[in-house]
Amino acid sequence: MKEGQTKMAQSALFIIFGGTGDLAYRKLYPSLFRLYEKGYLKDDFAVIGTARRPWTDEHYHEVVMNAIADDGHESDRTNSELAHKFASHFYYQSHNVNDTEHYVALRNLADKLDAKYNLKGNRIYYLAMAPRFFGTIAGHLKSEKLITDHGYNRLIIEKPFGRDLQTAKDLNDAISAAFSEEQIYRIDHYLGKEAIQSIAALRFGNEVIGSLWNKAHIDNIQITLAESLGVEERAGYYETAGALRDMVQNHILQIVSLLTMEEPKAYTASELRDRKVEALRNIKIYSPEEALQNFVRGQYGEDADHEQLDYRHEEGTDENSQIETFVAGKLETESPSLAGVPIYVRTGKRLAQKSTQISIVFKDLKQNIFANSESDTKLAQNVLTLFIEPDQGYRFDINVKSGEQSYGVMPIHLDYHKSAAKKAKVPEAYEKLIHDALDGNRTNFAHWHEVAQAWRIVDVVRKTWDKQDADFPNYVSGTMGPEAAEELLRRDHRTWVYNPKR
Ligand code: NAD
Repeated sequence: MKEGQTKMAQSALFIIFGGTGDLAYRKLYPSLFRLYEKGYLKDDFAVIGTARRPWTDEHYHEVVMNAIADDGHESDRTNSELAHKFASHFYYQSHNVNDTEHYVALRNLADKLDAKYNLKGNRIYYLAMAPRFFGTIAGHLKSEKLITDHGYNRLIIEKPFGRDLQTAKDLNDAISAAFSEEQIYRIDHYLGKEAIQSIAALRFGNEVIGSLWNKAHIDNIQITLAESLGVEERAGYYETAGALRDMVQNHILQIVSLLTMEEPKAYTASELRDRKVEALRNIKIYSPEEALQNFVRGQYGEDADHEQLDYRHEEGTDENSQIETFVAGKLETESPSLAGVPIYVRTGKRLAQKSTQISIVFKDLKQNIFANSESDTKLAQNVLTLFIEPDQGYRFDINVKSGEQSYGVMPIHLDYHKSAAKKAKVPEAYEKLIHDALDGNRTNFAHWHEVAQAWRIVDVVRKTWDKQDADFPNYVSGTMGPEAAEELLRRDHRTWVYNPKR
């Protein structure tokens, strides 16, 4: 079986640590159900949910059914025969991850279910828990012999993967003592998004686009991950993270690697990983001075109508918080085909609009033959925009004759937007990623070398910022961030292509 080839009806035991948590409820149970509906999981699978709460199997079944109902659109989804059958594969084991004896109980249950459901020793351990537990769990899985010697054993872990390179290394060493790199599936859910996976198809599936994707034609690349909401109920976590760690180190740098990597020889996990690692190693690591020049931080204040709280007055935040809710930066690549093309990145909370989009801005024509015509037309730059979410699609800005008597030229957009019906058919990121993990396909998971290099890139920014207090808050909620983010491009005689007003 080739990498990435889909198999039907897999046999596997899922052991979900953090089975009573938010991630399991909102993402994992609904995704597993969708895989069951589609036949990727059939009779030969079982799930053990573990957490500290003393739940019974019956209660666990109810929780799983409610999770499916909350996710679904059909009102009778929970009561369907299929949902009942699905939930009957779930088992709950009360478990404290620090207690060695609990792993013995877990192993006995796992072995029993292996025999009952014909699981062939295939196990997927999903750590839907705080990362501080990862090392303890991985170590116990090995020492208490949950890891089977027939069948496969795969460990799926969630972000955040460390707080900086050193803590990421420590975490990686801890899990690597029990699992090899090939057995570790690091989730970056952006890599599960259809529109992110489509970047490779766009670049390497089109002669026209592929041949323009280089420093001869591209002026700059812009990536925006904008959220309109504030910190909501995540202040506890956010106060320890901030936008740089929460969004730039993982999602944004993964997108940068997909946009700037050289062409893989084939679309396989190993080829893609090598090209992505290479792309990240081609991103310049700044000195502290360069970091200050090329990165801007922000924290939201109230909105213009004083109706929304500023970050420092949100529940659970520090009244003098130095945590950034906005980051903009300019990255430089030394990749052979894109060297010298600046990559501007931006992410933040409480911005004008929720949208993730990428703009590839092409160079000005060397010569404008219309410049001397009666209308003295200026030509707009060609821009290729990739809409990632919530909208999914593409827009290409080109110049055409304006339709007037004189030879005026004006820009138009060639637009493609996925319809709601088509979007609804696209599997959700977690569904795709769990399916890939079942398949043993690591194409859309982050390799350790990618994670480590991404930390090297952001660590210098973090450390430089941590040495001096910022003048926060510095942007009005509902705008696109602080003035300094505009200045970052203005000084290069450029502007952000995406510039919504609320
Ligand atoms: P949560 O707080 O809702 O759940 C944590 C789970 O861990 C609970 O089931 C809890 O009972 C269990 N737990 C805690 N201490 C334990 C112990 N000593 N022994 C056994 N079980 C214990 O957290 P969550 O939101 O589900 O997030 C889980 C992980 O996923 C975190 O690393 C988080 O950063 C990451 N994550 C979550 C989301 C999300 O949408 N919730 C998104 C991305 C990443």
